[in-house]
Amino acid sequence: MSHNTVTHKCAVCGKAFKPQYLRKYELLRPNLNAVIAASVPSWGPGAEICTTDLRAMRAQYIEQMLATERGELSDLDREVIESMAKGEVITQDLGVTLEMKSSFGERAADKVAAIGGSWTFILSFSAVLIIWMMLNVTALLFKPFDPYPFILLNLVLSSLAAIQAPVIMMSQRRQETKDRLRAENDYRINLKAELEIRQLHEKIDHQMAHQWDKLAELQQIQIDLLEDAAHANRNSRTP
Ligand SMILES: [Zn+2]
Repeated sequence: MSHNTVTHKCAVCGKAFKPQYLRKYELLRPNLNAVIAASVPSWGPGAEICTTDLRAMRAQYIEQMLATERGELSDLDREVIESMAKGEVITQDLGVTLEMKSSFGERAADKVAAIGGSWTFILSFSAVLIIWMMLNVTALLFKPFDPYPFILLNLVLSSLAAIQAPVIMMSQRRQETKDRLRAENDYRINLKAELEIRQLHEKIDHQMAHQWDKLAELQQIQIDLLEDAAHANRNSRTP
């Protein structure tokens, strides 16, 4: 059997994998090892775990960590943990999500509110009002259809106001929904970044401790070798 075809078994699922898809017990952080050992009794020095199971265990570890810190996990927290387990990107395109949820009426309300809240609308509407009043006061072109004090104009204006108010409210509610989605998305991204950074911290700490041990071991070997050489040298000089 050549070296390349050697397969090892994952201690969690029991399936055989090539060495590059497995991680050893010694290379994992102690906290993570404790979580794995809690569900897999055989987990210990020399044991190996496949990358899929490792991701799942890592998610479990994060869930436990968050649960002990906060007591209760929200749906948003769970979404973050799930995305970490799958190794996915968490950001969503909010514009697309919201556009998919909104009906034609809601989109129309947005348009109407946008037009109603512009200087173009104020100026052109003022022009209409002035023309209406002028025509009815001067009676140049035709007999006044709405003489002073413009009762019909009053009715038109009140109807317009009555319709405009709910349209603006509808648009505002949609804006609120948009803001809430944005805030939730920010929360998810921040939480995920925080958790990932924490994991990296732990990994680096573990890595450094590990390397330090290795270095001390190497030094000890070198000292032993030097002592052996010195010993051999002394022996060869004494007849
Ligand atoms: Zn496995």
